[in-house]
Amino acid sequence: MKDKRVARALAENLRALGVREIVTESRASALLGAEGPFNVTSGEDLSREGVIRREAETVERCRKCGLGSQRTHAVYGDGNEYAEIMFIGEAPGAEEDRQGLPFVGRAGQLLNRLLEQVGLKRSEVYIGNLLKCRPPENRDPLQEELVACRPYLDKQIAVIKPRIIVCLGLYAAQAILNVKESMARLRGAHHKIGDTTVIPTYHTAAALRFPAYKQQIYDDLCRARDLAYG
Ligand code: SF4
Ligand code: URA
Repeated sequence: MKDKRVARALAENLRALGVREIVTESRASALLGAEGPFNVTSGEDLSREGVIRREAETVERCRKCGLGSQRTHAVYGDGNEYAEIMFIGEAPGAEEDRQGLPFVGRAGQLLNRLLEQVGLKRSEVYIGNLLKCRPPENRDPLQEELVACRPYLDKQIAVIKPRIIVCLGLYAAQAILNVKESMARLRGAHHKIGDTTVIPTYHTAAALRFPAYKQQIYDDLCRARDLAYG
């Protein structure tokens, strides 16, 4: 491509002149950045917070699947963009749709209590979902919705780079690990994707119905905490 040739020639000239730092608009910064060793800053906010904010704005307008026209608010995610531990749930419920925030209804309150019990602060972790818009009547996500929404989650993970991903519920676990196993099997195994440890656990909504799951989620959160900070 002509742009790449131009960028390479420019990079060689700049290097010869001793230039090591450049501020440009974004397209040029991508080209020059690839030619290194420059510290390239573009006019766009490239901080994690900046990228996450722009992604959230994109999701707020998204209509890539049928859920987009039915939501009150898209629920992009919430928490610390520099988190060591990222939680991934299924999809917003009624309260999340009202507030535009993940895990703020009853399942979220249980998650908050469990986090507190294991000594994790909600503000130090990041919380997102497979789907950013609420399915009507909280029905299960459709395959086409999961496929349409997945790039937002992949970008979120790529920006936050968590060391640990805790999957809340079978949908999240199966989607992240790209398998069809049961939760009982998935919980019993060790999972890594690159440098990231994936910890599948029960959804706190399931634990509201089956209180025995609370202990298991608690145990899994302890493992996440110890791996991240131990
Ligand atoms: Fe877009 Fe995801 Fe919402 Fe579908 S669920 S409209 S893909 S943000
Ligand atoms: N359940 C989820 O999976 N996600 C939420 O944000 C709330 C409830």
